[in-house]
Amino acid sequence: MNIKTLVSSTVMFSILTVSSITAVQAAIDELVTVYSSRKEHLIKPLFEAFTKDTGIKVEYLTGKGGALIERLKLEGTNTKADMFMTVDAGNLWYAGSQDLFQGVQTDTLKSNIPAYLRDPQGLWTGLSVRARTIVYNTDRVQSEELSTYADLATDKWAGRLCLRTSKKVYTKSLVSSLIHHHGKDKTADIVKGWINNLAATPNAKDSHVMSAILSGQCDVGLVNTYYYGRLMDKKPNSPLKLFWANQNTTGVHVNVSGAGVTKHASNAKAAIQLLEWLSSAKAQAIYGSLNKEYPANQNIASDDVVSAWGSFKQDDMNLAQAGILQADAVKLMQIQGYR
Ligand code: FE
Repeated sequence: MNIKTLVSSTVMFSILTVSSITAVQAAIDELVTVYSSRKEHLIKPLFEAFTKDTGIKVEYLTGKGGALIERLKLEGTNTKADMFMTVDAGNLWYAGSQDLFQGVQTDTLKSNIPAYLRDPQGLWTGLSVRARTIVYNTDRVQSEELSTYADLATDKWAGRLCLRTSKKVYTKSLVSSLIHHHGKDKTADIVKGWINNLAATPNAKDSHVMSAILSGQCDVGLVNTYYYGRLMDKKPNSPLKLFWANQNTTGVHVNVSGAGVTKHASNAKAAIQLLEWLSSAKAQAIYGSLNKEYPANQNIASDDVVSAWGSFKQDDMNLAQAGILQADAVKLMQIQGYR
């Protein structure tokens, strides 16, 4: 495998080429180009495996999601991108709303990925699942005290809660799901209660939320589970545990990393092939192990480390709602003083 990498100040552009003579002759000129806000170390092993399986080369450009969306818009019909990959349904939905994707609904995608993790028009497909749930300090909180996202707004958590900033799309998507389930008024009450209960100014990162819980600044918080996985990997004896929220009601809020075939793809056929391949058992197993996420394909078991955190009921709200309700969520958080 010969890897050529060009680095510019903002983006990294890499081409994986197959030097193996076993590559299928017919596929030799086949190339699919991907723009990805998912980091190189999380996508490269997948693309290499795809090329090995199909002979189709993958060229990719990584960068910040927002910058890549702007780039796609500017490039228009001239874009080299056949696929755009990013994290969070809020971002995927936004790209779809900017007319950057084409609808792709194949039997393979439908059978591999449940409907709630896909755009109803097939503009994008979730490929890995991340759960955003409660994390707590086991020295200061009993799991019996925990129940729902809404419960974190009650008086018993006064001065004990840490949250990530409302600017992060993960927070926007979670609050969108609360609006979807409870309506705006009740969600405003929940967010107001959270803000009243904060032990500190909202944190910039999920890892900071957990550091604050470990340092004793607060007792509970909300995080995406893979950040918990990374921390426990480094500090396995931390008195920190995940609690699956809303198990008797709506389920844990889940989100996705995902991808869509671009509207102006010059090789849509190969891009669809890649998308389907990414939803397959083989790719889904790689996906889960690379970032301690959950497979989007529900027939695939999670990685051992992730499985050890226990099974849980997922919120099956269609994730397009995370985008549709995002503006309402942002406004509501602003009004309630969630920074
Ligand atoms: Fe993240």
